[in-house]
Amino acid sequence: MRYNKSSIQKRRKQLHSRKKRIHSSLSIVIFKVFLLLLLVIIAGGGGLIFGSVQGIIETTPTDYNLKPKYSATIIYDDSGQQVEFLSDYSSNRIIVNYDQIPANLRNAFIAIEDERFYEHNGVDLKGVIRAGITAIQNGGATQGASTITQQLIKNNVFEIGGETNFLAKVKRKIQEQYLAIQVEKTTSKKEILTDYLNTINLGKGTLGVESAANYYFDKSVDQLTLSECAVLASITKNPTRLNPIDHPEDNKERRDIVLKKMYELNYISSEEYETALSDDVYSRISKTQASSRQSVYSYFTDALITQIVEDLQNEYGYTQSQAYNLVYRGGLRIHSTQSTQMQDIADTVINDKSNYPVNTDYSLEYDLHVTLENGDTVTYTERDIRDYFRNAGDTDYRTIYPTKKAMKKAIRTFKKNTLSDTDEILSETIRFALEPQISYSLIDQATGQVKVLVGGRGEKKDDLALNRATAFTRQPGSTFKILSTYAPALDTGGMTLATVFDDAPYTYENGDEVTNYNPDEYRGLITIRDAIIDSNNIVAVKALTQLTPQVGYDFLLKLGFTTLVNNRQTASGGTETDVNQALSLGGITDGVTNVELTAAYAAIANHGYYNTPILYTSVEDSHGNVLLQHESSPKQVMKETTAWLLTDAMKDVVSEGSGVEAQLSSDMAVAGKTGTTSNNFDFWFCGYTPYYTASIWTGYDYNTSFENEDDYHKVIWAKIMDQIIDAQQQQIRDFDACEGIRTATICAKSGKLPVSGVCSQDPEKNMERIEYFEAGTEPKESCSSHIVVTFCSESNRVARRFCPDDLLYQRVFRIRPDGSSGVTEDTPYCLNFNIDSYKCNIHTRQWYEEQERLRQQQEQLAPAAPGSTESEEVLESASGDSSSSGQSPPGLDDIANSILDMFR
Ligand SMILES: [Zn+2]
Ligand SMILES: [Zn+2]
Repeated sequence: MRYNKSSIQKRRKQLHSRKKRIHSSLSIVIFKVFLLLLLVIIAGGGGLIFGSVQGIIETTPTDYNLKPKYSATIIYDDSGQQVEFLSDYSSNRIIVNYDQIPANLRNAFIAIEDERFYEHNGVDLKGVIRAGITAIQNGGATQGASTITQQLIKNNVFEIGGETNFLAKVKRKIQEQYLAIQVEKTTSKKEILTDYLNTINLGKGTLGVESAANYYFDKSVDQLTLSECAVLASITKNPTRLNPIDHPEDNKERRDIVLKKMYELNYISSEEYETALSDDVYSRISKTQASSRQSVYSYFTDALITQIVEDLQNEYGYTQSQAYNLVYRGGLRIHSTQSTQMQDIADTVINDKSNYPVNTDYSLEYDLHVTLENGDTVTYTERDIRDYFRNAGDTDYRTIYPTKKAMKKAIRTFKKNTLSDTDEILSETIRFALEPQISYSLIDQATGQVKVLVGGRGEKKDDLALNRATAFTRQPGSTFKILSTYAPALDTGGMTLATVFDDAPYTYENGDEVTNYNPDEYRGLITIRDAIIDSNNIVAVKALTQLTPQVGYDFLLKLGFTTLVNNRQTASGGTETDVNQALSLGGITDGVTNVELTAAYAAIANHGYYNTPILYTSVEDSHGNVLLQHESSPKQVMKETTAWLLTDAMKDVVSEGSGVEAQLSSDMAVAGKTGTTSNNFDFWFCGYTPYYTASIWTGYDYNTSFENEDDYHKVIWAKIMDQIIDAQQQQIRDFDACEGIRTATICAKSGKLPVSGVCSQDPEKNMERIEYFEAGTEPKESCSSHIVVTFCSESNRVARRFCPDDLLYQRVFRIRPDGSSGVTEDTPYCLNFNIDSYKCNIHTRQWYEEQERLRQQQEQLAPAAPGSTESEEVLESASGDSSSSGQSPPGLDDIANSILDMFR
């Protein structure tokens, strides 16, 4: 089967050594004479004379290009592998050079299309004469005789379909032949053959041999067998009737002729000929077709095309259609940032039904075009179906169905009750999407390169279909707390992870209540770290209110969000804006895209440096000139310490907070934040490892509440990340350390320095803990959220100055901030009585004075008779300076008593 090099080279030498090349000028004269004769014959002795031939030749185009005009654009992944070709009907072509084209393929075409290719000077006189004779015999129909050179010129120099009548066709033919001779003077046979093989139509929308080899055999031309070469060479005569998919029999008939010709012309040996004949290439083709990937572009490619079209418009001022033409026909080389490996992992996990514990529903996309009796056309969509059922009484009706059968039944019911007998259905399109849907994006935080995009689950049916990762905005929910509130709060807002807010009933400025996920539970005083871990709403709103919504909004702009709204006029004359308190909870006008959310989190993962998310690194034209280029240019948007502190808090979210389902199976460091929007429409998880940042969204395309909170999206997030870590054999490690971070011990109820023996004695639990701070922001004041109250054990009331020392005992209480109301978790641990009205009712001043009097009486009556009654001892100790008793150890008692003093 191997092509025998030496025999072919021998033949080539013979061809060239025959010195049969006729001198050009001589050949033109002969050619003109012949043409004249031919014309006279064909035109049936018409009035054409030599002069008109001269005129035709003079109007032959002189400025021409033999190269194919359009070719396919190739997309490479981040490892340089070709992953996709972009083309349209005019450009489904991949240019190959001469050396890539196997000799068998070149020879197969020469054998069947132009066997004297190496001998003639552009026009095959022998062939023309033969064709002329055939034409006379057949009564005027000229056929064949076009050399490869002429065919190339016909394809790439003359516009197809320019000939309106017979004479014009003759004129074109003459110009073609004349030009063929001109071309051969300046262009090598090698070049002509290469351009030809890159140009020709090979059926099924393929242009050129490489694209055809890919399409029919799923391989490159240099991999083709002899038989496969012959199959391709057989197509070109009539790409519709001879393509091997629709007409394998016809193609085979011609393939056998091609092989026979090749054998006769000594291009192949008899063994090669026999082997090629018996090669069952057609069953291979049908298998390739059956297993060929779907022709629809991936979500990543869709987003890439959109991005490049936009960039070409911006950079070069192209119109949109110019830019699209360039992308689909310009033979561009697009170096994308996509990782095929990671994309495959994400696609597989996301499309695995077993990862969705919820029932799969089907949401309907419907299009029905109907012509009414009066000739008007009406279009019905899924909205009309929804409205029909709602009007019929099912007020919550949604076009989401548990089965496809139920969906079809609803359509039938709708049609039966909506259409009349005289309506004529023009077209009906029923499409469905799996629900709940999903979107996912993964970014390399160090560069901003988008490595993975998943725009939905289920089969993708259209190019540029709804891309939920890049072109679909949803409410970001609680994932926004970090970005709109805590990041600016820590960065410039003078707050720390230790800053406390009172989680207690609270309303927005407009009077609406701010509610937590569990609406009746309030945690009382909690630090920002705890608020992040628990995804507390009230604390987030309070923090943003203190910071001001404008500061939060401006910070989000720095994080690259492009879908925020500021003072937009509505149709009704009002204005919409995201500069408000709800911004902290991600309650915004239009929502955000998955990929922009991921890019914002990636800035935290990247130590505070934001990279604009990019889908490609460079785009070159077909000559290798760089048209577009993206270099990562990280921009610092927050202090490194801020990023480090947020990361540290978000590690807790995954280890013990709302994100525990996203825990990884390895010890790789992971940080992240959950997001749930009101009504349970959307569920998010944004998270990162030291390597990559990824966000996952799940929800219904048409806002629909989940019945229960579902965590499967976090599990999917972790599964994908686990598999990526394994596949890339990533080194398991922690996040980078950060200079300028200090630790300090704080009281968790105040965020301030704990008071020794007080904050640790909180009635619930020890409130002392270690917190991280940007150097210089550690607390300097002491806790003011705890107090110690001294009681008298006799009355079990607040001790007075006169209560005997040995009856005193202390209790630690929490103090709620001024204005705090409602029951919170602090309530049971706070002083729930007024100290002034709850003082010891035994050891009063009256009692003291009475004791004094008795003592003095005793002194006067019986000196030096020491008593041993309990009351006397009490009296003695009480007579000392009770506010700083010499018997008490310093520390707790000192403070306790000083606090107690405040209440006396
Ligand atoms: Zn404290
Ligand atoms: Zn007392």
